[in-house]
Amino acid sequence: MAFENLTERLQQAMSKLRKKGKITEADVTEMMREIRLALLEADVNLKVVKEFVKNVRQRAVGTEVLDSLSPAQQIVKIVDEELTKTLGSETATLNKSPKIPTVIMMVGLQGAGKTTFAGKLANHLMKTEKARPLMIAGDVYRPAAIDQLKVLGQQLNVPVFDMGTDVSPVEIVRQGMALAREKKNDYVLIDTAGRLHIDEKLMDELKQIKEIAQPNEILLVVDAMTGQDAVTVADSFNQQLGITGVVITKLDGDTRGGAALSIRQVTGAPIKFTGTGEKLTDLEVFHPDRMASRILG
Ligand code: GDP
Repeated sequence: MAFENLTERLQQAMSKLRKKGKITEADVTEMMREIRLALLEADVNLKVVKEFVKNVRQRAVGTEVLDSLSPAQQIVKIVDEELTKTLGSETATLNKSPKIPTVIMMVGLQGAGKTTFAGKLANHLMKTEKARPLMIAGDVYRPAAIDQLKVLGQQLNVPVFDMGTDVSPVEIVRQGMALAREKKNDYVLIDTAGRLHIDEKLMDELKQIKEIAQPNEILLVVDAMTGQDAVTVADSFNQQLGITGVVITKLDGDTRGGAALSIRQVTGAPIKFTGTGEKLTDLEVFHPDRMASRILG
């Protein structure tokens, strides 16, 4: 399970305070040293760790906390609140177009889980809003991706617009958008190509698709298992393309948690969903407070 180690380490660091009748500033300093190490070992971005530690420490050493009747409990509450803040505070909802269709573009590196997420999102929108999405197969460099999206479409009974692999993705998106308008689909989900690394050609193509589709959302899909690499990828996609949200996949795996805990602060883009398995239903709307509670155990 994700975060297992981190949860244990944080609990250990804080439980020491509970055993003490009176807590001193030195006790807080010692706890913060342990929390700092735990976060760094969980592969959390150094700047994010520093900021977090500074904020918790500042609040925890206040006299209202240390002189209170339940200082240990209050410090746990502060850690919980600051963790929630690091994860983004508010639950971020999807940006919707005032006029149909709302256009959502999925971007990310190959293997991150874009195609799978497109299917999960279609399923989620149908369940929660009775939506009638259209999916566009824009990953022409990986023929299997088109078939994969078509299979998902069949399972969900969602139309998938594709033009094979010989037409440029920009043209596919142009025609797919026209079809969605004609059919009055309320959502258009665009699956785009990813590569193993970020390169200029990929970014140029994504920029052109963005221009044509005028998406309400550009969701960057990243694999939690790749840790700080996911954060670097997110930063770079954001600078080049301007992402509106992040989807963190494979949180069911044995990830240390660094990506999930760093991405919001590093990029400023909110985490909107998490992927928790390979099935279409393995999708969760991201709630910072619930995730913080889960990390604290
Ligand atoms: P794409 O290249 O970005 O389109 O990635 P895919 O959607 O093809 O996903 C790559 C692999 O990751 C596939 O084997 C998926 O089943 C798997 N995958 C996607 N999301 C998740 C997830 O949340 N959890 C797990 N365990 N596997 C996932």
